[in-house]
Amino acid sequence: MKKVVCDVLVIGGGPAGGVSAVTAKMNYPQKEILVVREFEIQLVPCAIPYIFGETLGCSENDVASCGMAETMGISTLLGRIEKVDIGNKIAFMKGYEITFDKLIFATGSEPFVHSSLKKSLDLEGVFTVPKNKTRIDALKEYTDKKEKIVVIGSGFIGIEIAVEFAGNGKDVTVIGGSKHILKNAFDTELGIRAEALILEHKVKYIGEDRLIEVLGEENKVASVCLESGKVLDADVVILATGYEPNTTLAQESGLILGHYGGIWVDEYMRTQNHDIFAVGDCSYRRDFITKEASKVMLASTSSAEGRVAGSSLFGIKYLKGFSGTLAIFSTMIGKTAFSSAGVTETQAKEAGIDVVVGAFEGLNRHPATIPNAQKQFVKLVVMKHGGQIIGGQIIGGEETGEMINLIGLIIESHFDVYKVMSMQVATQPMLTAAPTSYPVIMASVMATKMIELGKSDEKISKF
Ligand SMILES: Cc1cc2nc3c(=O)[nH]c(=O)nc-3n(C[C@H](O)[C@H](O)[C@H](O)COP(=O)(O)OP(=O)(O)OC[C@H]3O[C@@H](n4cnc5c(N)ncnc54)[C@H](O)[C@@H]3O)c2cc1C
Repeated sequence: MKKVVCDVLVIGGGPAGGVSAVTAKMNYPQKEILVVREFEIQLVPCAIPYIFGETLGCSENDVASCGMAETMGISTLLGRIEKVDIGNKIAFMKGYEITFDKLIFATGSEPFVHSSLKKSLDLEGVFTVPKNKTRIDALKEYTDKKEKIVVIGSGFIGIEIAVEFAGNGKDVTVIGGSKHILKNAFDTELGIRAEALILEHKVKYIGEDRLIEVLGEENKVASVCLESGKVLDADVVILATGYEPNTTLAQESGLILGHYGGIWVDEYMRTQNHDIFAVGDCSYRRDFITKEASKVMLASTSSAEGRVAGSSLFGIKYLKGFSGTLAIFSTMIGKTAFSSAGVTETQAKEAGIDVVVGAFEGLNRHPATIPNAQKQFVKLVVMKHGGQIIGGQIIGGEETGEMINLIGLIIESHFDVYKVMSMQVATQPMLTAAPTSYPVIMASVMATKMIELGKSDEKISKF
């Protein structure tokens, strides 16, 4: 048994673990930081869907770099931590006993499969979408030889995978379990638009029906049976039904879990024991707006948490800049991007928040004759009392991916529509919308009108 001593032990080499380690080294250069990761090759999880189509084509094109870690003098061990003795500050992995002062759990998440469907995983041809190269390669190799693919789940991972497979000429059907796709991030009128686009990309969508059973023949998937009684032939079934925190190790170590099973942490990502931290998908999260427990799992949020933990290990160095997960993300269907931040109008109303909506549709270049100018639609969800922007959704071109980050900052900073109305922006014909009709600003202007009129609903112009 080899004995290793370090100041900070990070378990997990995903985005949360990687950023925690780099931040810790930057803040505490004298400290010995050790990352234990399971796999030599770590995939960029967010780009996994693009392995299945022509965009990346294979997992070798989706390998995460170790970034600054190696050059900064952060140590790495390959293996799986099997046990942590928190009282004595020792972690155990095959052949190693690691003594630490501070410990960061960054053990991530695993695909979630409903208990009623777990037995279907025994059938050949039924897969989940893990963040693991070997298993993704197996899925790719299997699907390459098959035609009929049924994807269960209409969240962004299910949709991105479905569009990639369809682009490769596969016969793809998504079973959504909800009337429209991407329902957790977009209100109906945007979901409908996204749905029309996936149909254009030859993906079939069955919304208001649910998977009941995967049927097999000779231990291979043959078809899926839906709640309506409909049976669809299938060569491959992909369960894109969400992820759950990977907390077995933390639980066995005696740490307390929060709602939805994440490791309970405070605002500085500390567990009840202030020498032990948890970050990323394995940690407990609250929603930024409602402060309710949140199931949202994002690499961006995980990285932000890694920065907080990495700088708070030996005392609180900086005031934490965010309080709760914002649910901020983007996806792309063909050449059209869909982005969302904060709460949707539906979610706000369900949470009992009195909101108005401001929406505006313009162009991402000016004048309209600029080559490749694309429509840009912005919807803002705004508190009726006070005018703070608590949600934003955009449909547009590639610029949408950064524009939603502006809306994210607006939400995090508790900016109201009056501040945004007079915000100064850089505009340029080849790069942006016109200064006279910059969509985020115009949507704010529309919202101020709604507040003035006391209206909580607005007819949103068609995109
Ligand atoms: C297909 C797909 C697409 C996605 N797209 C996006 C996107 O576009 N944008 C976005 O923001 N997010 C996206 N996500 C979500 C994002 O990938 C996750 O939120 C992110 O990976 C979480 O990072 P993490 O470091 O907390 O956990 P993980 O990435 O799950 O990493 C945890 C690591 O810990 C290791 N580990 C676990 N237990 C142990 C142990 N006992 N010992 C040693 N190592 C251990 C695991 O092997 C793993 O490598 C996507 C996810 C998937 C699956």
